[in-house]
Amino acid sequence: MVIRTPYRLPTTVTPDRYEIRLTPDLSVATFAGEENVAIQIHEPVREIVLNAAELEFHGVFAKRADGMVVAGTAALDVDNEQATLQFPAELQPGPWHLHIAFSGILNDKLHGFYRSTYRDADGREKTLASTQFESTDARRAFPSWDEPALKAVFQVTLVVDENLSAISNARLVRETPLAGTGKKEVVFADTIKMSTYLVAFIVGEFEGTEPVMVGKAPVRVWAVPGKHRLARFAQDIAVFSLSHFSRYYDLAYPGDKLDLIAIPDFASGAMENLGAITFRETALLVDDEKATRSELERVADVVSHENAHMWFGDLVTMRWWNGLWLNEAFATFMEMLAVDAWKPEWRRWDSFTVSRAAAMQVDGLKSTRPIEFPVEKPDEAAGMFDVLTYEKGASVLRMLETYLGADAFRDGIRLYLRRHAYANAETTDLWDALEEATKQPVRALMDSWVFQAGYPLIRVEKEDAGIILSQRLFRYLDDGEDIDRKWHVPIFLRFGIKGIVTKQTVLLSEPRLRVELPQDADWIVVNAGGDGVYRVLYGDDLMKGLKQELPSNLLPVERFNLVNDAWATTLAGLTSLADYQQLIDLFRNETDPNVWTSVITSGHHLNRILDGTERRAFQEWIREILLAAVDRLTWAPRQGESDLDRQLRGDLIGALGVLGEDRSCQERAREIHAQFEKDPRGVDPNLIPALVAIVAHTGSMPEYENFYANFKHARTPQEETRYLFALAGFGDPELIDRTLKLTLHKDVRTQNAPYLMRALLLNRRARVRAWGFMKDRWEEMLKQYPDNSIARMCEGIIGLVSPEMEADANNFFARHPVKQGAQQIAQHLERLKIATACQVRWLGPKAAAH
Ligand SMILES: [Zn+2]
Repeated sequence: MVIRTPYRLPTTVTPDRYEIRLTPDLSVATFAGEENVAIQIHEPVREIVLNAAELEFHGVFAKRADGMVVAGTAALDVDNEQATLQFPAELQPGPWHLHIAFSGILNDKLHGFYRSTYRDADGREKTLASTQFESTDARRAFPSWDEPALKAVFQVTLVVDENLSAISNARLVRETPLAGTGKKEVVFADTIKMSTYLVAFIVGEFEGTEPVMVGKAPVRVWAVPGKHRLARFAQDIAVFSLSHFSRYYDLAYPGDKLDLIAIPDFASGAMENLGAITFRETALLVDDEKATRSELERVADVVSHENAHMWFGDLVTMRWWNGLWLNEAFATFMEMLAVDAWKPEWRRWDSFTVSRAAAMQVDGLKSTRPIEFPVEKPDEAAGMFDVLTYEKGASVLRMLETYLGADAFRDGIRLYLRRHAYANAETTDLWDALEEATKQPVRALMDSWVFQAGYPLIRVEKEDAGIILSQRLFRYLDDGEDIDRKWHVPIFLRFGIKGIVTKQTVLLSEPRLRVELPQDADWIVVNAGGDGVYRVLYGDDLMKGLKQELPSNLLPVERFNLVNDAWATTLAGLTSLADYQQLIDLFRNETDPNVWTSVITSGHHLNRILDGTERRAFQEWIREILLAAVDRLTWAPRQGESDLDRQLRGDLIGALGVLGEDRSCQERAREIHAQFEKDPRGVDPNLIPALVAIVAHTGSMPEYENFYANFKHARTPQEETRYLFALAGFGDPELIDRTLKLTLHKDVRTQNAPYLMRALLLNRRARVRAWGFMKDRWEEMLKQYPDNSIARMCEGIIGLVSPEMEADANNFFARHPVKQGAQQIAQHLERLKIATACQVRWLGPKAAAH
């Protein structure tokens, strides 16, 4: 028996092929549409139910193969976003065609079929139209069976002004001028059989690069006029990753062409529409001579991620939205693999540890969630687009790959893709394929990671000629609750005995496990290689041994984990702040940028928590450590340096000037920035973010005006966001108020405004004003900003560290629940609670006075 929930479609009628013809009118923000859908009627019906939202129906009829026509009427169910088409007589089983004439609006909410605007080189405002359908907004553009399992072929025709470009998922078949109308008809080829959320149409004044062929598919990058000079880097990685994946998957790219299109207004980073991937400009367009390494890496990441989806997601698709995590986790995993193969010198898997750490931070909360959870209403999937889906999901896959071996893992993926191509699959189908390819108990192992929230803290104690490993759920806040949760934990060990280094992998499935060693180890690394999704707490003896091995025998990733785990156990109250600082003191000679990222991030955290004398002492301490590191690296790039060294220099100088408040560093940064403004040549791009941050941190009105002008007249998307977000770093109350007003001003795109607000909340000097402003203007923000950005904006509340502000934040969100992201709000509040608890612990009752 099938229980029908009101938002699921009945399965009595299913689509095979849609012919969709749309005529958008950009000037009045509407569109007219017609569709002719080849359907199968599986049992006699008098009504056909499909999805529609914000659409008006102008005519419906069904036509049987023999030509018989039955006219119908449409009734809309606004709550469930459905249309019921009613017919006067029963439609008999068999193939039919369904014709619908409809119209809709080009909205400003960056979903469905929406409008985006920009200014051209002469300052004139221009409009374009684009789509964003995932998860369930195809129904705003055309009546459809808008569920991922109801795959069909799509043939799109767009009628647009003669001067505009039109792009859709498949190749252009013909363009015909429509005499006397100033318009043309653009007809596209049939797509592969795919889900509705992957359909796309883009209309506007776009310029494309010359195509580069990958197999039979031309690959091009598109942008609004004047920007396609910023497309080369993205095209390079697009071409590389597309051919890399076709080899990895051992399957040709499933589309007939690939366009990558930069859209000026875009709610997320990018969207994997088959053959027509859309991006926000910062994730696609970049000047590789002027950008920092991190900015280039971001473009490489996002392009590779979307390309990985062409197979994993587009060719094989989750059956329902509970499977979204696998789609995203896998694309995130593949993005590292491709970028690592493209630029090994970036050591992409090492920097992935920073993302894993971000996921483990959220996953150490009581308010975390399992990676996969039951999703009934499609709305519930909206809460899935977070670090637990992307970063924890990818981390767990990486751990599995390391455990199974890369080739065996890849063979399982190939089997899965071949078996489910052009169709849909469940998470367990992947485990089955991997079990078949590797003969390992993949399902039991992965179920423990996918269906259980959190991760274990692994304690390691020395015991003669062996070690005792034990696992227990890690949580920052111990509320006395004893939770019995066990994982199948792949433990990667490396140890040294009298100068001989040995590697060993064991599976910890029980609460405790004794591992025999040939004799007492001099040192031992648990989570060797860093791919395990757990924290390690070493017994005192073992920690002492490790500290001695720090510079020589620990990989960068392992040093990162040592710092990051120590910081986590400090926040959790398992170890003291003094112990943490003593550990960091050993890292003065550290050369890895990711390890420093961990140190600097904890420094920013401490800077928001501490106050008074304790904060001054902290600043002195961190200044001294950073100063030593900057002195060693010097300010000027040296010959033979790696990209990572250059990034590190920028990171360290930025932290020294802002966090360490080092006067001479600040002065020097201001001088170099002034020099850079006159002549950008001769200043390493990797230094610019640090200079900009320091100038903002120490700046007043003239610098603010200058930065505002730089934001308005930026030559690259990276420059634009850099100067925009720098406005949140000024400390003068008047300037803070100006930036706050900008968050609701039309000069700042709604794709960026929520994140500007978040940056203001995280600025110690701005947080009180920012919080007051956000509470006052909350309703306006909800109305203007994309739905998916509200919970992300609210992450800024983790900066409101004091018992009073925490209480106020709790009150506010109790009265103003966030519809799309209740769980993320609970996580932000819990992180704030942890920080406030640390404040009380470290500063004593006087914390309450601030
Ligand atoms: Zn994705």
